[in-house]
Amino acid sequence: MKQCIQCKSSFEVLPEDRQMLDQLSPDFGGQKYLVPDPTHCPDCRAGRRSAVVNEFHLYPSQCALCQGKTLSQYPPHSNMTVYCRECWHSDKWDSLSYGRDFDFSRSFFEQFHELKKNVPAQALSQQGTMINSEYTHLIGSCKNCYLIMHADFCENCYYSYGFKHNKYCVDGFYNLHSELCYDCVDVHKCYGLIASQDCVNSSDSAFLRDCVGVKDSFLCTGLRQKQYCFQNKQLTKEQYEQKMVGIDLGSHEQYQRFYQMLQEMQKGRVCKEYQGTNIQNSIGDHLNNCKDCYRCYDCEDVEAGRYVYQVVLGSKNVMDIYQYGTNLQASYECSISGENSYGILFGIECHMSSSNLLYCWYMESCHDCFGCVYMHHKRYCIFNKQYTKEEYERMVERIVEHMVETGEWGEFFPISVSPFGYNKTTAFMYYPLEKEEVLARGWKWDEYENPVVAKKTIPANRLPDNIKDIPDDILNWAIVCEITGQPFKITPQELSFYRDRSLPIPHLHPYQRHLNRFKRRNPRHLYPRQCAKCHAETQTTYSPDRPEVVYCEHCYLKNIY
Ligand SMILES: [Zn+2]
Ligand SMILES: [Zn+2]
Ligand SMILES: [Zn+2]
Repeated sequence: MKQCIQCKSSFEVLPEDRQMLDQLSPDFGGQKYLVPDPTHCPDCRAGRRSAVVNEFHLYPSQCALCQGKTLSQYPPHSNMTVYCRECWHSDKWDSLSYGRDFDFSRSFFEQFHELKKNVPAQALSQQGTMINSEYTHLIGSCKNCYLIMHADFCENCYYSYGFKHNKYCVDGFYNLHSELCYDCVDVHKCYGLIASQDCVNSSDSAFLRDCVGVKDSFLCTGLRQKQYCFQNKQLTKEQYEQKMVGIDLGSHEQYQRFYQMLQEMQKGRVCKEYQGTNIQNSIGDHLNNCKDCYRCYDCEDVEAGRYVYQVVLGSKNVMDIYQYGTNLQASYECSISGENSYGILFGIECHMSSSNLLYCWYMESCHDCFGCVYMHHKRYCIFNKQYTKEEYERMVERIVEHMVETGEWGEFFPISVSPFGYNKTTAFMYYPLEKEEVLARGWKWDEYENPVVAKKTIPANRLPDNIKDIPDDILNWAIVCEITGQPFKITPQELSFYRDRSLPIPHLHPYQRHLNRFKRRNPRHLYPRQCAKCHAETQTTYSPDRPEVVYCEHCYLKNIY
């Protein structure tokens, strides 16, 4: 047992952890430099990795090269030099011109931080062909999208997170291959769903939880291959249609009432110990096609992963990763890294066929670099300075030895180097802290919000209840969020979506809606709990004091499916 140097709780470095660390430890000049045991518990490691990532807050900015307008992940007061995507990838500048020597009389992170402040960053992280989707981040190949993050191959989607292959989906969290869904969390191959969660192959329904192959149903949980169900009762088509007369989800009041009814209905439902399918020798939650994974969450097609979150599509031998995989191999302590990359240790946004990068921050298609920032297509660089292969290896050996002495070797970037206020990062969602606590730890707090320009302001509770009564003029108003008091505006494309689908105007700021959807999912924490049927010991994200009835996978499949 070890004591976490951050939160002081005790944690275990398991033999399998040690084995993985030995396997991932790098080689320089024929000598292996062992990565030491972690000093932080798994939660504090996950918090540290996600405290360097701002996924949701974008700010109007300007490309410092072409002077074109762009949005930026960096707030105006961060004083970061940002380039638009085209300029950043162009030969109009050279990341090597910021190179510097390593000073062995000083700590690595201190020098790294200085370097990082000077090198121009990409304003946003976007890949592939992006059409009419400026207001997006950490995204690829999307069209007509607005404020969606962690998304690929989407069209006409707004205010969403974790989206792949969706069309006309709004206010979603982890929607996949779906269309015309609104306010849905963890839905896959669904069509026309409203306010639903954990559904697959379901359509034209509202307020569903844990349903598969369900059509034309309302307020149901745990159904399989059903049609015309209302509050889990099987009706005929005529009875169902009769029941639906008078239900108008365009009314905010009705929508909220049914939403509350679903919350009540969910309490006693029987659920499986984990969400997902086809896992072998793995524990965690929301896992699909995973093998030998330990304490992993939201992963798909991962083999031999440990403490890996939101990693997908063919990743292997990875430990302590926050996002995103797509064939990431042999890597440790990374955020937002992947895409045919391997050997990434202590990296942030190292991707696009990169390999053997240590302590690097935003690198595309780079190999064998150490302590570099914002580069593409480079090799054998240290602190953005070019070396020969032989010089590089000699220098890296010396730097690693220096970092062993300073106690930095084996540690991920400290949160103090994050350019973002802790409250604007992903860490704040999973590990919320009070402002005073954040400042006391030497981290940043950021209260800046983009100014909202509007002719008039209206408190959300003064809006007409029904979408039918909302005039076009709403586009000129700022609505005051019922929870945070933060003003927000409605976009024209969003208004037509609500009108076409007969859905109410939201009363909460988009970011608050995002947080609310996030809270509908279980925490990333495993609790020991007995199967309610066979009493086998399980590890589940349903804490023992929760009202749901939890079955082990075996009992669940035997009794429910
Ligand atoms: Zn800890
Ligand atoms: Zn530019
Ligand atoms: Zn059981």
